[in-house]
Amino acid sequence: MGTTRCYYEILNVERTATGDEVKRSYRRLAMKYHPDRNPGDTEAEAAFKEAAEAYEVLSDSERRAAYDRFGRDGLRSRPGHDFRTMHVEDIFSMFNDIFGGNAGGGRGRRQAVRGYDLETEVQITLQDVLSGVETEVIFSRLDVCETCDGSGARPGTMPSKCSTCGGGGQVEQAGLGGMFRMVTNCPACKGRGTVVTDSCDDCRGRGRMSVERRLSVRVPAGIHDGQAVRLQGEGEPPPVEVDPSGSAGRGDLHVVCRVESHEQFERDGDDLIVALPVSFAQLAMGAKVPVPLLDPDELEDHVDVPGGTQHGSIFRIEGRGIPGLRTGRRGDLIAVLQIIVPSKLDDEQRELLERYAETEDIEINATNPSFWNRIKDAVTGR
Ligand SMILES: [Zn+2]
Ligand SMILES: [Zn+2]
Repeated sequence: MGTTRCYYEILNVERTATGDEVKRSYRRLAMKYHPDRNPGDTEAEAAFKEAAEAYEVLSDSERRAAYDRFGRDGLRSRPGHDFRTMHVEDIFSMFNDIFGGNAGGGRGRRQAVRGYDLETEVQITLQDVLSGVETEVIFSRLDVCETCDGSGARPGTMPSKCSTCGGGGQVEQAGLGGMFRMVTNCPACKGRGTVVTDSCDDCRGRGRMSVERRLSVRVPAGIHDGQAVRLQGEGEPPPVEVDPSGSAGRGDLHVVCRVESHEQFERDGDDLIVALPVSFAQLAMGAKVPVPLLDPDELEDHVDVPGGTQHGSIFRIEGRGIPGLRTGRRGDLIAVLQIIVPSKLDDEQRELLERYAETEDIEINATNPSFWNRIKDAVTGR
């Protein structure tokens, strides 16, 4: 086994995910980390293989059940492939059906399938979540080469029939260490049944080009960290083996939103939590204390702290939190009072406090040994 991370975590799915969800998530990760899209990036290749390992287990109900009950130990009697030593192309052939290929189907069957979904990330601030935000994403996708319309052949020429597979696109091969034989895409033409003899200069015969794309994305207010905005038809065209011109349409782009943590406000669902510094005098005598707001342009608000309020008390200000993603109804702002002790006293303050302290039945001496003895007694339980 090449990895020790939890398979559900690798595929970024819940433990209760359906087979379809597992498949979709794997397809998205495989596209994201595919070496074609990350040339020379060994980390991406490792992530690609890790995802394949997780998918092999979670897509098989028996192996998944064993993994759910016993973890990796449950898989000992059902060993999987060692994806680390496999070629990326072989992994693709293995899971061909989910990538829209036809190795799992009948010979020579060419079915139009929608293209791949892609995933990209965007960083937003907590304040963006409050109001929603229009932001830009930059990502690259393999797109249909415009010069040759995806055929891979130099304009004016045509691809010719593949001599290795006779045009069927499939060959029988000894699979994975010779343990069994399997029908896979023809390695010479990658399943297309045709080969390009006179290549298009722009895509070097591949029919696809890596294209950088910028898009404006509207992130709705109330979105949570890790949630995605889907941009329909902004993914990749179908694989060139199946649909050179990409006419069946592109997949979708999933823009996963990463919400930066805020130094002052903590988010709890649709509520916001903030520490509200108050002085001893404010707590003791009561005060109207303004509360900090996430959006400085918002109308001010305050809490009425009654006299005799304790440090750590909580005040809830309704409707000053984050808007619910679906309802639009704002959560609350939760202010936790935090007493601030002055680090310095001037002479007058000291004198006043001393006089105050004399009225209390408390000894004022930071090094009072009896205090530490009491703590020790409490800790040791004597
Ligand atoms: Zn081309
Ligand atoms: Zn061939």
